[in-house]
Order: sequence, then structure tokens, then C-alpha cells
Amino acid sequence: MTHAKIREAICAIGASIFQRGLTAGSSGNISVKTEDGWLMTPTNASLGRLDPARLSHLDHSGGLIAGDPPTKESFLHRVMYEERGDTGAVVHLHSTHSVAVSCLSEVDPHDVLPPITAYYVMRVGRLPLVPYFRPGDMALAEAVRGFAGKHHAVLLANHGPVVGGTNLDAAVNAIEELEETAKLYLLLRGAETRFLTREQVEELLG
Ligand SMILES: [Zn+2]
Repeated sequence: MTHAKIREAICAIGASIFQRGLTAGSSGNISVKTEDGWLMTPTNASLGRLDPARLSHLDHSGGLIAGDPPTKESFLHRVMYEERGDTGAVVHLHSTHSVAVSCLSEVDPHDVLPPITAYYVMRVGRLPLVPYFRPGDMALAEAVRGFAGKHHAVLLANHGPVVGGTNLDAAVNAIEELEETAKLYLLLRGAETRFLTREQVEELLG
């Protein structure tokens, strides 16, 4: 894929995410790996109004080659690429239902959401909760790094999900599946629910 095509894809997916209310204001960020580094959404940019020419073009060490300065949350993307060699794209959102679940004290921090549907199990799998850190605290990067080796999707407490994929479509599909499952979890909360059994989950992951 050429840089021009990747830039167009990031902007089109950003607009789609924003229009569907999956992240608000200037929250949320997207990155895609290129042969010479990364293309990433800029700081203070709304995903709904991205300009392909102003995306941040970063080299392999994170230095800015061209475009606007990258999102202040670029470190979340960097650790995912560094710990997972097959990662081609990373998406981070402040999507409402996922953020709501990330604030619940009742969830299991080792695996936040139960196996409600087969697609959730296949696209997201086990979802750990990363402890809360204030914005800008680089300890968050190291906390995410601790999980990224084993998980392509993590949920930051009182903040939102970070999901990596082999390409942009895979990362977006997985984070949307996570958001939908968070919504289902909240809808089902308090109702007697039949989740997938351990055997059914193992069959899917087999
Ligand atoms: Zn964030």
C-alpha cells in the first residue's frame, strides 16, 4: 500500500469512527506501520476532520519526518509495535461503553469482559485492564508494555481501549467488536446471562 493510500484509509476510517460517535472531540488516535516508520494522527486533531497531508509521518525511532506533531498518546502505539512484531496498525478510542466498563470496580482486571459472543472471543480474546495513570505519565507506557506481549487488545482504566491488528481493518474491526461487547455487557448487567462456556471459548481459540 502506498503512503497516499494509507493516508486516505486513516482519514476515511477516522471520519467513520467519529460520525458513528465512537470517539468524541479530539479524542482517539490511529497509526499504521509503513516501510520507513509510521503514519499517525496528529495531536489535537478530531478523527472526524483529518487532513491526509497533515498526518504525522514518523521514522522508526519516533522522530517527526513530516506533517503535524503526533498525538500525545503516541507512546501507546509505540509500545504495541515494539512488543508485537506482527502489528500493522493500532487504534485507541475513548468509546463510551468501553470507557464505562473501564470504570466499573466489579470487573476482573485479568479479563474485563465475559465471552458474550463468538466474534468477541475471536477478534479480541482475553482483555486485561491496565491500571489508571494521569495523562502524560510515562509509567502508563510501561504498564501497557507489560501486557502487550500477550495481548493485542488492552483496556486502560477510566480511559479507553488500545487495540493492535495486522492491518488497519483488523485493528478497527477488533476495537469496534470490543465496544459493541462492552455495550452488550452493560445491557445484560443484572440479568441472568448464559455466556459461552469454557469449552466453547477453547474451541474458538483452538
Ligand atoms: Zn486516550
